[in-house]
Amino acid sequence: MKDTFRHQGKRKQLVEIVKAKGVSDEGVLAAIAKIPRHLFMDSSFEDHAYQDKAFPIAAEQTISQPFTVAFQSELLQVQPGEKILEIGTGSGYQTAVLCELGAKVYSIERQQELYVKTKRFLTQIGYRPKYLNFGDGYKGLPTYAPFDKIIVTAGAPFVPNPLLAQLKVGGRLVIPVGDDPQIMTLFIRKSAKEFEKKEFGEFRFVPMLEDKN
Ligand code: SAH
Repeated sequence: MKDTFRHQGKRKQLVEIVKAKGVSDEGVLAAIAKIPRHLFMDSSFEDHAYQDKAFPIAAEQTISQPFTVAFQSELLQVQPGEKILEIGTGSGYQTAVLCELGAKVYSIERQQELYVKTKRFLTQIGYRPKYLNFGDGYKGLPTYAPFDKIIVTAGAPFVPNPLLAQLKVGGRLVIPVGDDPQIMTLFIRKSAKEFEKKEFGEFRFVPMLEDKN
């Protein structure tokens, strides 16, 4: 598990690509410059790690495209110390970005293989999310609610009500909604009953799945 000057150089180029596509949040860009994305993928695919592309990981899932991770993270407007729920731990890359931003991260993964592997891996490289959960993201994490922010990193066929319910007033939910493609959607909770909704164009995610295997 090496991180070399060559990797760091490639990450600087990746930051420029993500910037050119419109992301300007300095904290997010610093996280991408810092996190060794190649370690979140199988070592034989290292060459792909610093291209702005999604890539297969285990259990037929993908590590999201760096631009997408950056874009969603920017929409969340993470402040240090905030409690953030992530749906779809996957490789743990987005989890690591949220940790770098100083968030207390709770993340749910429904594929046991990924849950086990990523839990071990994040510890190995020094990231300490507050809580990783093997479970169903449609339900959120009622025990730990409410959250300042919630991010969904799989394509949601609809907006799960429990996620809206587990958001603090003033909180933000970033969720790609629809079949293929999804529309990146931001919900801001204005009051107990009111949500403001904004849409940010098309993205492609693996689908959020309903039944645990
Ligand atoms: N954030 C991840 C993206 C992984 S792809 C990363 O940076 O690598 C989406 C992930 O969502 C997959 O790992 C998939 O198994 C998971 N997923 C799909 N449906 C889910 C559900 N209902 N609850 C929790 N996780 C789910």
